[in-house]
Amino acid sequence: MRNANRQLRLKARPEGLAGPENFEETIAPIRQPQEGEALLSTVYLSVDPAMRVWLKEDPGYVPPVEIGDIMRAGGIARVVESRIEGITAGDYVMARLGWQSHPTLRSEGMHKLDLDLGSLEDWIGPLGTTALTAWFGLREIGQIVAGETVLVSGAAGGVGQVAGQIARLEGCRVVGIAGGLEKCGFLTEELRFHDAINYKAVTDLSAAIGEACPDGVDVYFDNVGGPTLDAALGALRHKGRVVICGRISQTASPKLYGVTNTGMLIGKRARMEGFIVSDFQDRYVEARRWLSEKLKSGELKQKLHVLDGLEKAPEGLTMLFEGTSTGKLVVKV
Ligand code: NAP
Repeated sequence: MRNANRQLRLKARPEGLAGPENFEETIAPIRQPQEGEALLSTVYLSVDPAMRVWLKEDPGYVPPVEIGDIMRAGGIARVVESRIEGITAGDYVMARLGWQSHPTLRSEGMHKLDLDLGSLEDWIGPLGTTALTAWFGLREIGQIVAGETVLVSGAAGGVGQVAGQIARLEGCRVVGIAGGLEKCGFLTEELRFHDAINYKAVTDLSAAIGEACPDGVDVYFDNVGGPTLDAALGALRHKGRVVICGRISQTASPKLYGVTNTGMLIGKRARMEGFIVSDFQDRYVEARRWLSEKLKSGELKQKLHVLDGLEKAPEGLTMLFEGTSTGKLVVKV
């Protein structure tokens, strides 16, 4: 469709999981950029668990997506026409694009990609905010030290796959928790985690963690919350650190799980701390330089799970919560 900007808007707030029934497609004419704006052609959209949080009436830390709004999303786009200084047609940028094919946006939050650091696929994956989340979470909150044992949940997902590899590259022993044999094989065989626990196949997760981490856990990188967090707390070592990155098991759940093992924080003199990746945005350049070097040397690997077509975006949001994606989930528009 020429001169058409395809958009997906929020039609109804989801009760449980979000999916295609919660969104509707609209077509708008492409808008020519005014001074300080650029017309973009979307290439990749990131699909993130936080997007389900933004659909709630009160997400807590950001304004909600309102009914009728274009769904909020970050991604990568090619610049078609620009009236922004320093950005020209043909450049690639990272921006808050939303679920639309041809947004016309102001420069705020727009970042020109340095393709010397990596390809577009690297930028939406291991150079994108998902990977930066792993990098800052492990180093700044987890304060990992070589020789320590690091346990990562949601380990075969976008953040988890990078977190485990960073910890391994920094000399830690890494154990991942993921749902399914295939995902665990991916962790140990392709990403060289030291061990992996298929939480869907064990009846006693605490025992499984104890077996995989016989000396206990120094740093637990938590992507899922709920009973997994409880079990990991039980395995903490003296002065252990728990990095609260996400809690996908609770995000769309009607009933919240009450964590019981926080007493371990006292006995083990341990620490549990949450963070938001943007807390570290003034240091993204440093992290991306490190990640780019490891990518180029082949030491850091990544799996992109690509869905084809803007219309697949709502389905992607369901997949994250059903565990049917592996690696970083993106939509190719
Ligand atoms: P992701 O891990 O790719 O998310 C999908 C995976 O989560 C699924 O494949 C599934 O893997 C797992 N999962 C879904 N429901 C689950 C449940 N009930 N129990 C256990 N595991 C479940 O997503 P991501 O983008 O990498 O994000 C990971 C976490 O980091 C999310 O919680 C996200 O909100 C958080 N995050 C935080 C920040 C921050 O700044 N703090 C930034 C980005 C992301 P299995 O098949 O293994 O179950």
